[in-house]
Amino acid sequence: MTHRAEPRGSTRAPSEWNGAGVVLFDIDGTLVSLGGLGRRALARAMTEEWGIEAPLDGVSLSGSTDGALARAVGGDRPRAGVWRRYLTYLSALAPGHGAPLPGVTALLDALTGGGARLGLLTGNLSGSARIKLEHVGLWRRFDVGLSAFAEDDEDRGEMAARAVERALGAPVVIVGDSLADVRAARHVGAPVLITATGVETEESLRLTAPDLLVSDLTDTARLSQWLLARLSAG
Ligand SMILES: [Mg+2]
Repeated sequence: MTHRAEPRGSTRAPSEWNGAGVVLFDIDGTLVSLGGLGRRALARAMTEEWGIEAPLDGVSLSGSTDGALARAVGGDRPRAGVWRRYLTYLSALAPGHGAPLPGVTALLDALTGGGARLGLLTGNLSGSARIKLEHVGLWRRFDVGLSAFAEDDEDRGEMAARAVERALGAPVVIVGDSLADVRAARHVGAPVLITATGVETEESLRLTAPDLLVSDLTDTARLSQWLLARLSAG
Protein backbone atom coordinates (compact mmCIF):
# COMPACT_ATOMS: atom_id res chain seq x y z
CA MET A 1 0.00 0.00 0.00
CA THR A 2 1.55 3.26 -1.08
CA HIS A 3 1.45 6.28 1.16
CA ARG A 4 -0.45 9.19 -0.26
CA ALA A 5 -0.25 12.67 1.11
CA GLU A 6 -3.58 13.97 2.28
CA PRO A 7 -4.82 16.58 -0.18
CA ARG A 8 -5.14 20.11 1.07
CA GLY A 9 -8.64 21.11 2.06
CA SER A 10 -9.82 17.58 2.65
CA THR A 11 -12.47 17.17 5.28
CA ARG A 12 -11.03 16.03 8.57
CA ALA A 13 -11.64 16.56 12.24
CA PRO A 14 -10.77 20.13 13.19
CA SER A 15 -7.43 20.47 14.89
CA GLU A 16 -7.17 22.02 18.32
CA TRP A 17 -6.22 25.32 16.74
CA ASN A 18 -7.35 26.05 13.22
CA GLY A 19 -7.45 29.83 13.26
CA ALA A 20 -11.25 29.96 13.19
CA GLY A 21 -12.80 32.86 15.06
CA VAL A 22 -14.06 32.54 18.62
CA VAL A 23 -17.43 33.61 20.00
CA LEU A 24 -17.11 34.20 23.76
CA PHE A 25 -20.34 33.86 25.74
CA ASP A 26 -21.22 35.23 29.15
CA ILE A 27 -23.28 32.73 31.18
CA ASP A 28 -25.76 34.34 33.62
CA GLY A 29 -28.53 36.23 31.85
CA THR A 30 -27.07 35.32 28.45
CA LEU A 31 -27.09 31.51 28.22
CA VAL A 32 -29.05 30.66 31.37
CA SER A 33 -31.23 32.19 34.04
CA LEU A 34 -31.37 30.35 37.34
CA GLY A 35 -34.05 32.39 39.05
CA GLY A 36 -31.80 33.55 41.89
CA LEU A 37 -30.58 30.10 42.91
CA GLY A 38 -26.95 31.04 42.27
CA ARG A 39 -27.31 34.20 44.31
CA ARG A 40 -28.88 32.33 47.23
CA ALA A 41 -26.18 29.64 47.14
CA LEU A 42 -23.41 32.24 47.22
CA ALA A 43 -25.06 34.29 49.97
CA ARG A 44 -25.53 31.20 52.14
CA ALA A 45 -21.88 30.18 51.66
CA MET A 46 -20.66 33.69 52.59
CA THR A 47 -22.86 33.82 55.69
CA GLU A 48 -21.79 30.39 56.93
CA GLU A 49 -18.10 30.87 56.21
CA TRP A 50 -17.66 34.53 57.09
CA GLY A 51 -20.50 35.12 59.55
CA ILE A 52 -21.91 38.00 57.50
CA GLU A 53 -25.70 38.20 57.49
CA ALA A 54 -27.46 38.98 54.19
CA PRO A 55 -24.09 39.53 52.46
CA LEU A 56 -25.51 40.21 49.00
CA ASP A 57 -28.43 42.45 49.94
CA GLY A 58 -28.27 45.53 47.77
CA VAL A 59 -25.35 44.11 45.76
CA SER A 60 -25.80 43.85 42.00
CA LEU A 61 -24.45 40.61 40.57
CA SER A 62 -25.07 41.67 36.98
CA GLY A 63 -21.81 41.44 35.07
CA SER A 64 -19.81 41.09 38.26
CA THR A 65 -17.11 38.48 38.76
CA ASP A 66 -17.13 36.05 41.67
CA GLY A 67 -13.73 37.37 42.75
CA ALA A 68 -14.87 41.00 42.75
CA LEU A 69 -18.00 40.04 44.69
CA ALA A 70 -15.95 38.21 47.29
CA ARG A 71 -13.71 41.25 47.69
CA ALA A 72 -16.67 43.63 47.94
CA VAL A 73 -18.34 41.53 50.64
CA GLY A 74 -15.48 39.85 52.45
CA GLY A 75 -12.47 42.05 51.77
CA ASP A 76 -9.32 39.96 52.13
CA ARG A 77 -10.98 37.11 54.05
CA PRO A 78 -9.91 33.66 52.81
CA ARG A 79 -12.23 32.49 50.04
CA ALA A 80 -11.54 28.78 49.61
CA GLY A 81 -14.20 27.76 52.16
CA VAL A 82 -16.79 30.04 50.56
CA TRP A 83 -16.14 28.60 47.13
CA ARG A 84 -16.32 25.04 48.43
CA ARG A 85 -19.70 25.64 50.11
CA TYR A 86 -20.98 27.64 47.12
CA LEU A 87 -20.26 24.81 44.68
CA THR A 88 -21.86 22.31 47.06
CA TYR A 89 -25.10 24.33 47.31
CA LEU A 90 -25.05 25.02 43.59
CA SER A 91 -24.98 21.31 42.86
CA ALA A 92 -28.67 21.30 43.70
CA LEU A 93 -28.81 22.13 39.98
CA ALA A 94 -28.91 18.56 38.67
CA PRO A 95 -27.29 17.99 35.26
CA GLY A 96 -29.75 17.99 32.36
CA HIS A 97 -32.71 19.29 34.35
CA GLY A 98 -32.81 22.90 33.17
CA ALA A 99 -33.21 24.71 29.87
CA PRO A 100 -31.06 27.36 28.21
CA LEU A 101 -32.60 30.76 27.53
CA PRO A 102 -34.71 30.96 24.33
CA GLY A 103 -32.74 30.74 21.09
CA VAL A 104 -29.45 29.79 22.71
CA THR A 105 -29.18 26.19 21.52
CA ALA A 106 -30.11 27.06 17.93
CA LEU A 107 -27.64 29.95 17.89
CA LEU A 108 -24.79 27.76 19.17
CA ASP A 109 -25.66 25.17 16.50
CA ALA A 110 -25.59 27.82 13.78
CA LEU A 111 -22.29 29.27 14.94
CA THR A 112 -20.60 25.88 15.13
CA GLY A 113 -22.07 25.00 11.75
CA GLY A 114 -20.63 28.23 10.39
CA GLY A 115 -17.13 27.27 11.53
CA ALA A 116 -16.86 29.38 14.68
CA ARG A 117 -15.37 28.08 17.91
CA LEU A 118 -17.18 28.67 21.20
CA GLY A 119 -15.67 29.86 24.47
CA LEU A 120 -16.86 31.37 27.74
CA LEU A 121 -16.10 34.79 29.17
CA THR A 122 -17.75 34.64 32.55
CA GLY A 123 -17.37 36.00 36.04
CA ASN A 124 -18.19 32.50 37.30
CA LEU A 125 -15.60 30.23 38.81
CA SER A 126 -14.88 27.42 36.36
CA GLY A 127 -16.64 25.08 38.82
CA SER A 128 -19.86 27.08 38.99
CA ALA A 129 -19.76 27.63 35.21
CA ARG A 130 -19.64 23.89 34.74
CA ILE A 131 -22.50 23.17 37.16
CA LYS A 132 -24.73 25.84 35.61
CA LEU A 133 -24.06 24.76 32.03
CA GLU A 134 -24.31 21.04 32.77
CA HIS A 135 -27.70 21.82 34.31
CA VAL A 136 -28.90 23.01 30.91
CA GLY A 137 -26.88 20.54 28.83
CA LEU A 138 -24.50 23.10 27.29
CA TRP A 139 -21.16 22.56 29.04
CA ARG A 140 -19.65 20.37 26.33
CA ARG A 141 -20.41 22.96 23.66
CA PHE A 142 -17.64 25.23 24.91
CA ASP A 143 -13.88 24.93 24.68
CA VAL A 144 -12.45 25.49 28.15
CA GLY A 145 -9.06 26.20 26.59
CA LEU A 146 -10.51 29.27 24.86
CA SER A 147 -12.37 30.53 27.93
CA ALA A 148 -11.76 32.86 30.87
CA PHE A 149 -13.22 32.38 34.35
CA ALA A 150 -13.20 34.08 37.74
CA GLU A 151 -9.91 32.33 38.52
CA ASP A 152 -8.24 34.40 35.80
CA ASP A 153 -8.89 37.87 37.22
CA GLU A 154 -11.35 39.88 39.32
CA ASP A 155 -11.72 42.40 36.51
CA ARG A 156 -13.81 41.33 33.54
CA GLY A 157 -11.77 43.44 31.14
CA GLU A 158 -8.59 41.64 32.19
CA MET A 159 -10.44 38.33 31.93
CA ALA A 160 -11.34 39.26 28.36
CA ALA A 161 -7.67 39.97 27.69
CA ARG A 162 -6.78 36.45 28.89
CA ALA A 163 -9.44 34.95 26.57
CA VAL A 164 -8.12 36.96 23.63
CA GLU A 165 -4.60 35.65 24.36
CA ARG A 166 -5.99 32.11 24.33
CA ALA A 167 -7.48 32.70 20.87
CA LEU A 168 -3.89 33.01 19.60
CA GLY A 169 -4.61 35.80 17.16
CA ALA A 170 -7.92 34.48 15.87
CA PRO A 171 -10.71 37.08 15.77
CA VAL A 172 -12.99 37.24 18.81
CA VAL A 173 -16.53 38.51 19.34
CA ILE A 174 -18.30 38.75 22.71
CA VAL A 175 -21.93 37.99 23.63
CA GLY A 176 -23.32 39.19 26.95
CA ASP A 177 -26.20 40.81 28.79
CA SER A 178 -24.68 43.64 30.82
CA LEU A 179 -22.80 46.91 30.83
CA ALA A 180 -19.81 44.98 32.20
CA ASP A 181 -19.79 42.80 29.06
CA VAL A 182 -19.74 45.90 26.85
CA ARG A 183 -16.85 47.36 28.87
CA ALA A 184 -14.90 44.12 28.68
CA ALA A 185 -15.35 44.01 24.92
CA ARG A 186 -14.20 47.63 24.60
CA HIS A 187 -11.17 46.81 26.75
CA VAL A 188 -9.96 44.30 24.16
CA GLY A 189 -11.38 46.01 21.07
CA ALA A 190 -13.79 43.17 20.28
CA PRO A 191 -17.27 43.60 18.78
CA VAL A 192 -20.07 42.90 21.26
CA LEU A 193 -23.62 41.60 20.93
CA ILE A 194 -25.84 42.33 23.92
CA THR A 195 -29.08 40.50 24.70
CA ALA A 196 -31.49 42.16 27.12
CA THR A 197 -32.31 38.85 28.83
CA GLY A 198 -30.51 39.61 32.09
CA VAL A 199 -31.50 42.03 34.83
CA GLU A 200 -30.44 45.24 33.04
CA THR A 201 -33.16 46.88 30.97
CA GLU A 202 -32.97 47.24 27.21
CA GLU A 203 -33.14 51.01 27.62
CA SER A 204 -30.17 51.16 30.01
CA LEU A 205 -28.20 48.76 27.81
CA ARG A 206 -28.86 50.93 24.77
CA LEU A 207 -26.97 53.74 26.50
CA THR A 208 -23.86 51.52 26.62
CA ALA A 209 -23.83 51.56 22.78
CA PRO A 210 -23.11 47.87 22.07
CA ASP A 211 -22.44 46.99 18.42
CA LEU A 212 -25.74 45.13 18.37
CA LEU A 213 -28.52 45.09 20.98
CA VAL A 214 -31.36 42.56 20.85
CA SER A 215 -34.24 41.72 23.17
CA ASP A 216 -33.32 38.00 23.11
CA LEU A 217 -31.29 35.48 21.09
CA THR A 218 -34.15 33.90 19.13
CA ASP A 219 -33.45 35.41 15.69
CA THR A 220 -31.00 32.64 14.84
CA ALA A 221 -30.37 33.48 11.17
CA ARG A 222 -29.79 37.19 11.73
CA LEU A 223 -27.64 36.80 14.84
CA SER A 224 -25.49 33.96 13.56
CA GLN A 225 -24.88 35.86 10.32
CA TRP A 226 -23.96 39.01 12.23
CA LEU A 227 -21.56 37.18 14.55
CA LEU A 228 -19.92 35.14 11.77
CA ALA A 229 -19.52 38.32 9.68
CA ARG A 230 -17.72 40.02 12.63
CA LEU A 231 -15.36 37.05 12.82
CA SER A 232 -14.55 37.08 9.13
CA ALA A 233 -14.07 40.87 9.24
CA GLY A 234 -11.52 40.38 12.03
MG1 LIG B 1 -24.39 38.13 32.59
